Amino acid sequence: MSSLFPALASSPGEQVALTFGDRSLTYAGLSAAADTLAARITGGDRASAGRVAVWATPTLETAVAVVAALRAGVAAVPLNPKSGEKELGHILADSAPTVVLAAPGDELPSPLRDLQRIEVEVEVPGVEMRGAGEEPGDEDPALIVYTSGTTGPPKGAVIPRRAISSTLDALADAWQWTGDDVLVHGLPLFHVHGLVLGILGPLRRGGSIRHLGRFDTEGVARALNSGATMLFGVPTMYHRIAQALPEEPELAKALGRARLLVSGSAALPVHDHERITAATGRRVVERYGMTETLMNTSVRADGEARAGTVGVPLPGVELRLVEEDGTELAAYDGETVGEIQVRGPNLFTGYLNRPDATEAAFTADGWFRTGDMAVREPDGYVRIVGRKATDLIKSGGYKIGAGEIENALLEHPGVREAAVTGEPDEDLGERIVAWIVPTDPDAPPNDGELADHVARRLAPHKRPRVVHHLAALPRNDMGKIMKRALARD
Ligand code: ATP
Ligand code: MG
Repeated sequence: MSSLFPALASSPGEQVALTFGDRSLTYAGLSAAADTLAARITGGDRASAGRVAVWATPTLETAVAVVAALRAGVAAVPLNPKSGEKELGHILADSAPTVVLAAPGDELPSPLRDLQRIEVEVEVPGVEMRGAGEEPGDEDPALIVYTSGTTGPPKGAVIPRRAISSTLDALADAWQWTGDDVLVHGLPLFHVHGLVLGILGPLRRGGSIRHLGRFDTEGVARALNSGATMLFGVPTMYHRIAQALPEEPELAKALGRARLLVSGSAALPVHDHERITAATGRRVVERYGMTETLMNTSVRADGEARAGTVGVPLPGVELRLVEEDGTELAAYDGETVGEIQVRGPNLFTGYLNRPDATEAAFTADGWFRTGDMAVREPDGYVRIVGRKATDLIKSGGYKIGAGEIENALLEHPGVREAAVTGEPDEDLGERIVAWIVPTDPDAPPNDGELADHVARRLAPHKRPRVVHHLAALPRNDMGKIMKRALARD
């Protein structure tokens, strides 16, 4: 048994832990608010509390609610406040929480109105429960987080405390992350990126968080220019930064000052990475993780950030690439593609109510099948080529990763956004289909020229056979491209 937040117990008192907009909480304030709420959740008895849903708006209340649930030893189920009623209904029926934690004034939609509601209070008079009660065990479920639903209906991943502490400590090692770090945060709080890394991470280190509420480049510049040291973002944020850099000199200065710029949740296009480096002199550190595994690999703060790679396995994480028959690749030569499998203390315990899916996800000897395809360099760096289900195109006898074609398309000045899929083809098995958002819709690039551009950069067999022009790509709340929706169009 171990405490998830040693810094909270040995509270650095008046140090600010969290800032959301113009509202802040010190460590002492957070401790008091979380303990008070934990006591209300359990009514003094954590065994009876079951699971609690958290209405996860990007606010202080959400951070307090999750810390309180962890202290109470009940599993928290963060809910996306933008979910439609159907998705919410699915998650509530699946996770069956007894209680919902919400900020005063939050309007909850109908599927939540049947639950007992506990209001999260941030300003509380004093500490009620500190030190009382039994510490929950390392294998107890801490969070039930639903996957992003990129490839199918979201599944509830049961995440034990052990996975959270081990992933955060591995990242601390890789990123030289300490209590002196101040994180600029603009992510939602209902996925592991924004919640586990972005909130629980700094709190475990004893550092602080400045949440922007909503991401914008001015907010990032302001925070980094006034002492923040790290930025966590998804690729759509770095894309916006890359676009804004030529017009916002303050932003370039701010990014140049940051100790660490981290990207994850989806592949960071090489073109955006290179534009940021050219304008700021800084590299973006890319890390790779999943709801089910928390973090698997990262470029290290003291390592080389190679655009297009997700770095090396984190301490404690075993990673291998396997052939379709499940045997490990004979050589890591930077070219042979295999499915990533991982094993380690960072893994979840299983999908809620889905023993079938849980069993299918693990090998007999405990490796988790990520469904992501990659190559590995002889020196250990991993380059993801895409997801097995949607990004691996079998064309003309070749296995082609969508990612490198997307990167090549994005290097064309006429392309703002790009996604690549495969569709059945009588001759080739599958043909490569490109979906692009032109930089200038009134003067879109010529399709043949685009296909030539890709073939020249990569190889003739990687030439897109069909090019579709769209006004925007379908993306989910994390900015991930929903390839399922593309294929249906
Ligand atoms: P679902 O499992 O419901 O289809 P999802 O897989 O998108 O949705 P998450 O668990 O949020 O749900 O995302 C994990 C996936 O995100 C990984 O399996 C991988 O495909 C992708 N990913 C995360 N980080 C990176 C990265 N740095 N580069 C490329 N892909 C990444
Ligand atoms: Mg997934």
